[in-house]
Formats: sequence, structure tokens, C-alpha cells
Amino acid sequence: MREIEEQFAILERIPYRETDLLLSVLGEHIGKELLTVRSGRKIPNRWKSSFLEGSILLGRILRVKNHHVLTGVITEKYVPYEKYSPFMILALEMFSKTPSVDRSSFQILEKFLTSEQTARDFDQFLVSFMVKESLQPSLNSCVVCGEKREQFPISASVYLGGYVCPRCGSGDVELTDVDYESLLKTYRKVGELTENMRAYWLDVLESQLSTKFVSREGLK
Ligand SMILES: [Zn+2]
Repeated sequence: MREIEEQFAILERIPYRETDLLLSVLGEHIGKELLTVRSGRKIPNRWKSSFLEGSILLGRILRVKNHHVLTGVITEKYVPYEKYSPFMILALEMFSKTPSVDRSSFQILEKFLTSEQTARDFDQFLVSFMVKESLQPSLNSCVVCGEKREQFPISASVYLGGYVCPRCGSGDVELTDVDYESLLKTYRKVGELTENMRAYWLDVLESQLSTKFVSREGLK
């Protein structure tokens, strides 16, 4: 049995048995894991804050057979309840519902959780995450009507987030390849998505994961 030190973000808390607490976390090295906190439901106030969703902890973890047990917290950065933003809740739900989320996505999540969590911060998080996990919208069909694209080069809209067919209007960037580089370059200059484009990217993510994000309600 080996105890390791690990930095991780808490995605979800799940009460377990009479007294224990399970934490769904994304760790810097362990990736997405479930940690058991023994007697975690009885822990006094001093530590309770550590186990809130959105907190980033450096802790000691013991691996016992297939279980990961949190044995101690070294440092904590936590988000007080009153500071929970709808964007943060959505970001955590996205990661909870992405089964294969890679450990290298920890940096993307950490950067967002320690930001001001504005719409712009969220958009950068959303786009980086989806492109990294290859979940970004396809350029194969029109973002407005769904019509299959013509041959390259195609016209794409950075505001709508993809290919726009001639019948639905014109984009603001011409793409010559099946990749997002030029679209993202333009996006980076703009920095923030329009509400339509954000909704479109989230729709695409939901459909890729075959799920619905209940916390999208909080954005309205
Ligand atoms: Zn169209």
C-alpha cells in the first residue's frame, strides 16, 4: 500500500453508508476517481469547507485494493457557498458526466475554478475542454439548418461556432481544412462566445455525451 500526495478538484459529493463520504474528483495524476473520506459526514466544521464542490485540495491518498481513501488534507482552496456561480456548477456537472475525462484536463478545470468565473472565463474553459477531448462541433453540417457541407473551402461563423451554408447566410472566416484552427484563431480574438454559440456548443456536448446538463437552467 502506497500513500501519495495529490492535487485534485472536487466534482461531486456523494453521502456513503452511515458516516462516510465519497468524493468524485479530478486529480492531477490519478485522473477522475472516487475518493472515500472515512467518517466524512461527521467531520467538524473546520474541515467541512474542504469537501465542497469546486474546492481544490492537496491531499494524501491511500490506495487500498481498488479503493482510494483520503487520509489527510495538506492544503485547501475552497469556494464559499455564496460565491458559487452558475458557470461553476455547470463546469462541475460537465466533468462529472464526461466518463473518460483525462487527467490532463485538470489544468483546464483548475484554471477555471481559480478564475473570476465570468462568462468569458467559462467560454475559454468550454472551448479548450471540448477541443482537447475532441468533442467540438463538427464542421460537416451547417450549424443553422444541419445541411451537409459543400466542398472546402467553406464559410464558418465564429459567433455560431461552425459551418454556415450559403442559404443560411455567410460566415466571417473561410476554412480550407477539416480542423478548427482558423475558427479558433478568430474565436480567440473575440474571446467570448455569444449566448447562441455557447448554447450551441453545450448542445453539441450534451449530444456527444448523450446527457442533459440540469445546471444549464441556472444560466437563464
Ligand atoms: Zn444552413
